[in-house]
Formats: sequence, structure tokens, C-alpha cells
Amino acid sequence: MRVILLGAPGAGKGTQAKFLKDKFGVPQISTGDMLREAKTQGSLLGQKAAEFMANGQLVPDAVVIGIIEERLKKADCQTGFILDGFPRTLPQAKALGEMLTQKQIKADAVLNFTVSDSELVSRLSGRRVCVKCGAGYHIEFQKPTQEGVCDRCGAILVQRDDDKKETIERRLKVYREQTAPLIDYYEREGILKNIEGSGEIKSILQKVLASLAIN
Ligand code: AMP
Repeated sequence: MRVILLGAPGAGKGTQAKFLKDKFGVPQISTGDMLREAKTQGSLLGQKAAEFMANGQLVPDAVVIGIIEERLKKADCQTGFILDGFPRTLPQAKALGEMLTQKQIKADAVLNFTVSDSELVSRLSGRRVCVKCGAGYHIEFQKPTQEGVCDRCGAILVQRDDDKKETIERRLKVYREQTAPLIDYYEREGILKNIEGSGEIKSILQKVLASLAIN
């Protein structure tokens, strides 16, 4: 199963990617997670990416395309993958198309999660993540048992720098200008499926599975 998840920041790509990863036993490839990891490790790549990320800008195409190219070569991707947050620009989509053609494979589907701007803002501004295991929470919709503490590993929960109000607006603008054109791009390729992404996480998953013709 090779699936690409599209949608604005906060549309639920990461949440659904985790379900799909477990369901199909294929890796969730999140460029955002990979860049954050590189930043934490203090690598040159992480240092280069950090400033773009903190400002809500996209990291240059050549950098993320290189990361994905390397990642898709790994053994665990040979039976499939869930791309979460890549591609985000037309050049990235074209580069991915070339990589897949070279491997003589195709994406099975592109799922586009649609959520209203006001809901995106409320989801992102209330989002909290565990500093240790990366588990996601929300201060209203998905509270941890103990405020500020991860249910899974007991570490503290923090707000991502780029989930602060001023950066959220910039990320949504970047999405509209640079990523939204991919909807038409994949529609023309005939593999786009739109999923209404508001509501309960479980009911969205049902819609996702139905769109992939899986029960
Ligand atoms: P995310 O966790 O997917 O919201 O990504 C967080 C940040 O990482 C984005 O705001 C970008 O700065 C950067 N990033 C993640 N994926 C990409 C990508 N495909 N292209 C460029 N920048 C990206």
C-alpha cells in the first residue's frame, strides 16, 4: 500500500498516518518528524532546516527531496509507505513521480483531508506533543489523564514552536500558496480522494479505509 497524505497543517495527516502504518505494516514517512529529529540531533541538516521551520516556511525542495530519496531506498519501504507531509510543492511532487517511475511503482492513492481554517487554527493552537515519544494531544479534544504529562511515557508535553499563533497563520498561507496546487495535480493524475477531515478521529479513519476500498 503506497499512500500520499495531503492537507493543511492540522488537517489530521499525522494522526491518520499512524493508524494506516499499523493497519498495513508499512512505515509512516513524515518529513516534519525527520527534520525535527535532525534538529534535535544537531546535525547540519537539522541546523539548516530549523530556521525555516521556526518561521513557518518550507524547507528548500532540494533538501527534502534528498531526504525522501534516501528514505525510500530503505528495505522497509519496499512493500509500501505512508507519505505524511511530502510532497508539499509541485517540484516535490514531480520529483516523487520520477522516483516512483524509476522504481516502476505507483502511488495507490492520494488522500486529501479538508478541514475549515477556523478548525485548523483551533487544532494547531491547542496541540501538545510529548518531548520524549512524540505522542500527540490536544488541550481540549484529546486531553492526557494528567495535565501536561504524556499518558504513554510520563514525559512532559510541550507546544511545538511552529504551533504558536503567529506562525500558524504563516503556515496556512504557505499551504494555500505552495501545497494546495497539488490537489489539482493529483486530481489530473486520477488518484486523488477527498476526505472531509473534521469530526471524530475514528469516523475519519472509517472514511479513509472506505476510500481505499478496505473495511
Ligand atoms: P509538519 O510536521 O509536517 O507540520 O512539518 C513541520 C515543518 O517542517 C514545516 O512547516 C516545514 O517547515 C518543514 N517541512 C515538513 N515537510 C516538508 C516538506 N515536504 N517540504 C518542505 N518543508 C517541510
